[in-house]
Amino acid sequence: MPVATKNTYKNLLKFTFSAMLIICLTACSFSGPPGAKNGAKKLSKTDFVLDTTATITLYGEGDGELIDRCFELCREYELVFSRTDERSELYALNRDGSAAVSDELLELITLARDYAELSGGAFDFTLGGASALYGFSSDSPRAPSDAELSEAMSHAGWEKVRIEGNIVTLTDPGAVLDLGAIAKGYIADRIAELLLENGQGSAIINLGGNVLCLGSKPDGSDFVVGLQYPFGDAERTIANVSVSDMSVVTSGVYQRCFERDGVFYHHILDPDTGRPRDSGLLAVSVVSPRSADCDALSTACFVLGLDRGLELVDSLEGVYAVFVTEDYELHYSEGFEEALF
Ligand code: AMP
Ligand code: MG
Repeated sequence: MPVATKNTYKNLLKFTFSAMLIICLTACSFSGPPGAKNGAKKLSKTDFVLDTTATITLYGEGDGELIDRCFELCREYELVFSRTDERSELYALNRDGSAAVSDELLELITLARDYAELSGGAFDFTLGGASALYGFSSDSPRAPSDAELSEAMSHAGWEKVRIEGNIVTLTDPGAVLDLGAIAKGYIADRIAELLLENGQGSAIINLGGNVLCLGSKPDGSDFVVGLQYPFGDAERTIANVSVSDMSVVTSGVYQRCFERDGVFYHHILDPDTGRPRDSGLLAVSVVSPRSADCDALSTACFVLGLDRGLELVDSLEGVYAVFVTEDYELHYSEGFEEALF
């Protein structure tokens, strides 16, 4: 199991509903100049990488070169994991149908496959063909026709990925791998490693709402991460979580979406149909030590919906989740209430 024990982390979580906002998950910019908030010295940089706005904040003296290296790492990984960049390793695998892959790509595809299995296929990293039809990240997203969707979906299915040593093969050459639901989490974990190797033990890595809090604030207190109010202003939060050495990742319909002819389209797809998944949810936020786990699970839980998503999270050690249903009600996994008081 790719996660740690439940009790180890139970006491680290404190959820509050206070108005205080340190990070807004998709706002990606920090209020106040360095050193202004709570007297803590910090150095922060924001840049556009991984198809999103990312902010990395180092607490303490900070090291500008180290932050730059973190962003370089993001760009290096983009050339491994991107579905759309023609220079990427994943792009070549999708094009050729089989390849001897790098350790990083092998590790992430293997983890993605584990989560596909664990979630009974709700997490499906072979929906790239369907995703591409919508063009969620493009300037002109569109609604695909039924024929286009059924053609794309005829090649989807996570069981069509064979892994033998470092050789990955798509048994259906028309399958298109898409690691967009897990790659940012994996990359956040690698950035955390880089920071730790360089003696930086207190930082926040925010890759477009995929947040990893490394250590705690220099005074030993928790970081406070705001969960965005769905469709609200970037600064508006529906809940705040207090965490140390934890990642907080949200999958939400409002993150990539558009409307056509009165129909709302969002980017988390139903593996059975290739259409935006209607699970009665607006968002799911997952909290656990490893960001890749949070990323995969937030997508999986969104697709599973409230009941089956809660069941999955409650079966895992060291993982917590908040589900926001369409009526804007919050539903917590086991351990949340305890952590609240
Ligand atoms: P996230 O924002 O982490 O929930 O990931 C959503 C992204 O993952 C989408 O933009 C797609 O690229 C891809 N995706 C869409 N639906 C699924 C799914 N059911 N399972 C895995 N990845 C998906
Ligand atoms: Mg995800």
